[in-house]
Amino acid sequence: MSEKGWKDLAAGGKITEPGNAAQYKTGDWRTFIPDVDREKCINCLFCYLYCPDMAIEVKEDSTLGEIKLDYCKGCGICSSVCPVKCIEMKKEEK
Ligand code: SF4
Ligand code: SF4
Repeated sequence: MSEKGWKDLAAGGKITEPGNAAQYKTGDWRTFIPDVDREKCINCLFCYLYCPDMAIEVKEDSTLGEIKLDYCKGCGICSSVCPVKCIEMKKEEK
């Protein structure tokens, strides 16, 4: 039995144009959802800096904005890096 080499495999995951991530709503991949206790938030914006999906918005006054749930995959990184532990990851009810 001969196996295919990598050159024989069909190409996948091509990025055909730069900056197209906004076209792909990946929020439905999520199992857990971040729940922010805004009373405790100190607006350090670590969550914004570390979110791999750019799903966290910053307001014009440089405070924490909304979490764009169309793009949040529920990875929990924001919760891990929050210094005051005000983001709780909760199981999402679908
Ligand atoms: S759970 Fe992950 S994807 Fe969602 S806002 Fe937090 S860091 Fe971003
Ligand atoms: S990391 Fe925590 S304290 Fe900092 S802005 Fe995000 S939610 Fe607020």
